[in-house]
Amino acid sequence: MKFDTVIIGGGLAGLVAGISLQRKGQNTAIVSTGQNALHFFSGSFESLQEAPPEMHSLFEEAGIRLHYREGVRLMPLGTFRPSCLSLEDISLFPSEKFARKVLVVNFMGYHDFFSSFLAEGLEKQGMQCRIRFLNLPELEKLEQSPSEMRSVQIARTMDRIWEKVVQEVRILLKDEDAVLLPQVFGLQDTSVPGRIKQGIPAQVVFCGTLPPSVPGIRTQMLLKRRYEVLGGTYLMGDEALEAHVHDGVVHSIRTKNLDSHYLEGSHFILASGGFFSKGLRSNPFSIYEPVFGLDVEYNPDRNAWYDKAFAADQPYMGYGVKTDAQLHALADGIPLKNLYAIGSILGQTHPELGSAAGLAIRSALEVSAQIKK
Ligand SMILES: Cc1cc2nc3c(=O)[nH]c(=O)nc-3n(C[C@H](O)[C@H](O)[C@H](O)COP(=O)(O)OP(=O)(O)OC[C@H]3O[C@@H](n4cnc5c(N)ncnc54)[C@H](O)[C@@H]3O)c2cc1C
Repeated sequence: MKFDTVIIGGGLAGLVAGISLQRKGQNTAIVSTGQNALHFFSGSFESLQEAPPEMHSLFEEAGIRLHYREGVRLMPLGTFRPSCLSLEDISLFPSEKFARKVLVVNFMGYHDFFSSFLAEGLEKQGMQCRIRFLNLPELEKLEQSPSEMRSVQIARTMDRIWEKVVQEVRILLKDEDAVLLPQVFGLQDTSVPGRIKQGIPAQVVFCGTLPPSVPGIRTQMLLKRRYEVLGGTYLMGDEALEAHVHDGVVHSIRTKNLDSHYLEGSHFILASGGFFSKGLRSNPFSIYEPVFGLDVEYNPDRNAWYDKAFAADQPYMGYGVKTDAQLHALADGIPLKNLYAIGSILGQTHPELGSAAGLAIRSALEVSAQIKK
């Protein structure tokens, strides 16, 4: 199977690179083992104070609406974090005190939304809070098994019954000027959060739950759908195992599911994520990249990999594969001519590209531009 570009990893970086290349007329394939960091995504794109111009049209065409406002967003435990570029349904406030009185609404039996922590956090900022639970018979079936009463399962139901939630919240609402709801709306029907906001006569704020993240999964689904509409081949649930490299050029990769059918390409992009997604791995002696055996930038002293203070920035999070300035990955100190590394597998080796989602998107678009130069 031959493609113009083969991408390893279907998270944010791999999908953005794939869509960008398909838009430019390439025939690409993405091979991805499965879950990625978008499943934990807050909905705010970090380190994207200045988004690359292509990002806006690429996301808009995928049906992902963004908004930009320098401010703070509410975190799941009632704290606030500075943010700017976010999905449209993520509220960004100019300051922490975003309302006078807040009605916090949860669903009976749903334990992944921390209403008491949220109320406590908001009260610290001088807002009065009232917590209420909606008893919805439509959720009773899920309630019978705690593993079913999770964000994505609830979101599937909410796409059908959101109008009922609006009615119930309107009944509960007294003199509050804001309503806080768990972020379990708009998984399939992206118009639902906006329609809920229109239906409730107060400021509506959707707040994060325990993972999986509904806005993150929605973003992943929309990007994947757009990639496939553009003709990209997404090999879901497959894993790149090894690569065939001669004279500094990658010729093909072998995957778990395709057996003896190698994926050949003119270009290859490694977007397999950091430690979280097993793009980088470690053993007691080293940190390594498992598919190509690339050079990794890290401290050889194992004791320096992590900080004992739990909340400290962990040094290992900064480790990443080595590349040249054009993001060609290095093996034994030599850049592979047609292999690029993008996204969180770069760690903090390219601070000029930002971090987190900013790094994923900037590096993906930069490599796509180079391939199509
Ligand atoms: C828990 C968590 C939450 C985060 N939340 C935010 C946030 O709210 N905002 C923000 O800006 N950033 C956030 N980040 C930062 C995040 O790293 C980036 O935002 C971005 O999503 C990373 O995308 P990526 O494509 O580089 O990697 P990933 O999302 O990790 O995707 C890599 C993909 O490659 C696949 N893969 C790995 N090895 C192989 C292989 N051999 N063959 C095939 N496929 C393979 C993995 O299964 C995975 O699907 C978060 C990170 C984590 C870990």
